[in-house]
Amino acid sequence: MEAKAATDEPKHCAHKWCKLLAEEGSDLCILHQPGPKDLERFKAALYTQLNEQGKEDERNHRFWFEGYVFPVRVVVGDKRDKAVNETIALPAGMVRPFFGGCTLTGGADFSDHRFEGNASFADCTFVGAADFDGCTVVGVADFRGTTFEKGANFRGSTFLWGTNFGGCKFSGDVCFDAAEFATGAGFAGSTFARGAEFNDAKFAGVANFNCSKYVGVTHFDNSTFAKVANFGGCTFEEVICFRDCRFAGVTYFDGARFSRDADFSDCTFEAFANFDHSKFARDAHFDGSTFEQDAYFRRSRFARDPRFGDAKFVRGAHFHGSTFKGLT
Ligand SMILES: [Zn+2]
Repeated sequence: MEAKAATDEPKHCAHKWCKLLAEEGSDLCILHQPGPKDLERFKAALYTQLNEQGKEDERNHRFWFEGYVFPVRVVVGDKRDKAVNETIALPAGMVRPFFGGCTLTGGADFSDHRFEGNASFADCTFVGAADFDGCTVVGVADFRGTTFEKGANFRGSTFLWGTNFGGCKFSGDVCFDAAEFATGAGFAGSTFARGAEFNDAKFAGVANFNCSKYVGVTHFDNSTFAKVANFGGCTFEEVICFRDCRFAGVTYFDGARFSRDADFSDCTFEAFANFDHSKFARDAHFDGSTFEQDAYFRRSRFARDPRFGDAKFVRGAHFHGSTFKGLT
């Protein structure tokens, strides 16, 4: 009898901190359960939390969405995406939302939204397009380890504190055109499977792109790097353009692999530039660029003669051990 009574007890969701009851035949609640689900029941549970209805020990903390599986597109405020029938609207006034480990099945539209504190999206999966066009994050923007299965649009966005996009997987087109990073920007180890656009971007702090990989055509044209720019160990499989960039801090492209044309024309390198051990499989353009401190290309390999037309080396240019067309 006792055993039977135990199985009849309502079971709590198995997610580590969740206060909701598990769905029938599942270990997880309607919010955490993967796969297709009843949208109206999902919304009812979510809005109970957002509107703080019901007993406190039967709902989750207001803007804590860790591990939720959102079945349709998430929008903020009264936005409605006409292309999508169903949306889940989050309040415009939400503060420091935590989306760690979420699945956003329909993607999200946070365009022009101002996140007043931190915005945590670490380890999320955006199955649909992620639209953060023109958004502002006042606190830390944490997107570590996030997967963007469709486009990721951060055009004109402003990050006022630290930014971490390290270890991200961008499967669709990526746009950070005119984005402003007021402090550090972290993209180390991320993979860009299609085109990546960072034109007119402003990096006021350290820009760390160490060991990131670019499969599609990539542009950083007219961008400004006020501190260290670290592209060491990066892999560029398609054409990449860093035309007309200002590198005010030390610049690292050491160990980078350029499989197609690499265009660094009309750049200014105000501190030393390190291209040691890099490999250029096609054309390398540095025409019109100025190296105000030492430029290092030691043990680099150029499959074709690099182009330095009108380039200025104010200090030294170091090519010890480099090979050109396979010849030293
Ligand atoms: Zn749950």
